Amino acid sequence: MIEENLKQIEENIQAACKRAGRERSEVTLIAVGKTKPVDLLNEAFACGCREFGENKVQEMTEKQELMSEETHWHMIGHLQRNKVKYLAPYVTLIHSVDTYRLAEEISIHAQKNHRVIPVLIEVNIAEEESKFGIAAEDTIELIRQVAELKGVKVKGLMTIAPYVEDPEENRHYFRQIKQLSVDIDGKNIDNVDMSILSMGMTGDYTVAIEEGATMVRVGTGIFGERNYLKSIQ
Ligand SMILES: *Cc1c(COP(=O)(O)O)cnc(C)c1O
Repeated sequence: MIEENLKQIEENIQAACKRAGRERSEVTLIAVGKTKPVDLLNEAFACGCREFGENKVQEMTEKQELMSEETHWHMIGHLQRNKVKYLAPYVTLIHSVDTYRLAEEISIHAQKNHRVIPVLIEVNIAEEESKFGIAAEDTIELIRQVAELKGVKVKGLMTIAPYVEDPEENRHYFRQIKQLSVDIDGKNIDNVDMSILSMGMTGDYTVAIEEGATMVRVGTGIFGERNYLKSIQ
């Protein structure tokens, strides 16, 4: 099932790149395995997936210990400062930085591990009250502050678009955040680049790619529906 799903997604990604006049190599698929067992993640690994996303530190760390060292780990969920120390040794990219205090904590633990951790700034582009992320108008100010930290490197922006039936409804949000990223890039801030734009999930990743996504985060489309009741046990 996973192999077929990945094949279908690959076709969709290629078609979206073609429509947008983009190279396939500009887009990275992140397999979001939250609530799913390591067996299923390893199936995706066997099909060639190397980038995996999780939204909980404990779950990600447990899986990281069990899976191949060639796996790259993306923290895509809200991150509490007291949990940063657990992922600092191994995390590939943190997509969900939305406060200076969190960035500062990441920087401290990165330096303890003699590394610089790449991060994205999470923008709440639709201004949904239920969502984490910084408001678009406050993003540049936060990035200027985070850029001063020695242990982190800002690599771009991330957003979680609203849940919608028709992905076309999110196109204008994707366009807005792409424009924000271009504006920030134009400011040439030291220690900041805007090479990554993480946006698009199972329901809307093709539209996100058409609007400039460089990373799409797909869970359900690869691993099937999540059963949260079962995962609680
Ligand atoms: C769960 C999750 C995804 C994947 O969602 P699907 O709709 O299952 O593809 C992507 N991004 C974030 C931040 C998530 O928490």
